[in-house]
Amino acid sequence: MAMAVIEVGAALLGACVGSFLNVVIWRLPQEDPRRRSLGGRSHCPNCGAKIRWHDNLPVLGWLLLRGRARCCQQPFSIRYPLVELLTAALFLALAIWPPYGPAFVPLADGSYVVHTEAAVAMLLHAIFLSLLIANSFIDLDHQLLLDVLTKPGMVIGLLAGFWPGLAGPISTAPESPLALRTLLGSVIGLLAGGGVTWAIRIVGTKVFRKEAMGFGDVKFMGMIGAFLGWQAALLTMFLGCVFGALIGGVGVLFGGAAKIPFGPFLALGALVAMFAAQPILNFLFVTWPEWQRSSPSAQWFLPVLALLSLFALFVLVRRGRR
Ligand SMILES: [Zn+2]
Repeated sequence: MAMAVIEVGAALLGACVGSFLNVVIWRLPQEDPRRRSLGGRSHCPNCGAKIRWHDNLPVLGWLLLRGRARCCQQPFSIRYPLVELLTAALFLALAIWPPYGPAFVPLADGSYVVHTEAAVAMLLHAIFLSLLIANSFIDLDHQLLLDVLTKPGMVIGLLAGFWPGLAGPISTAPESPLALRTLLGSVIGLLAGGGVTWAIRIVGTKVFRKEAMGFGDVKFMGMIGAFLGWQAALLTMFLGCVFGALIGGVGVLFGGAAKIPFGPFLALGALVAMFAAQPILNFLFVTWPEWQRSSPSAQWFLPVLALLSLFALFVLVRRGRR
């Protein structure tokens, strides 16, 4: 029963945070500093009328108004409720998915144990998820990853390293949960995430004579590395390239999407790495090589992977970005 309360609570909190993220995504990239402020009442982006509190409820408000503003009947994008649902789903996942949750574990005699580590991990990673979502949608809209989000993200990620046992999705040896060691893990994660992106940026620019990746991507990957550690950061970059190649390839085939930002793909990679880094790394570095040794006909995997990565670089290099 109490578990259900916590799960519903996490989802509701996620929906409310998602509603706030919609405001962040809309306001932060604005050129006019007065419109950039996050405080104050919500206004209709079309006619400027104040929005009533009940029309502003996450998901419900959109459904009640059937996607049209009360003031001027201008249709609202379906993206607003979708961002709220996405945030709710991810917060719910945090609440039940080890090592982020569950923070409250029921015992046989009906009492509960509170896992402070899981509770802190959940809170910090809720911030991390919010940063991933806000950055992704701003990048989609403006081909821009904002310092005002990625730099504090790096700092919070490093602070998360101070908390013993919080070294991201890769389990560390249980006998060594020293704060200094996990902090080091965060620092190395930041350097690895930012560094590998920096290297791709330099090589890509040399080879293709065009800016391959923005410096915003470097800082964004630094933030991801600070939260998730270096193994998951490298996995994030790999997955980001694979997703970018697949989805970008489909976009090029159907309609020639010219400008595809890389941020959302990195965020998608970070999400997958956050919840499934250990099984994926086990598959790539243990299960697959063993299977390949026993079955020599499976050599096609590596060439395919190399081609896919090249294609990813090609797709990414088509864009110039800040
Ligand atoms: Zn309006």
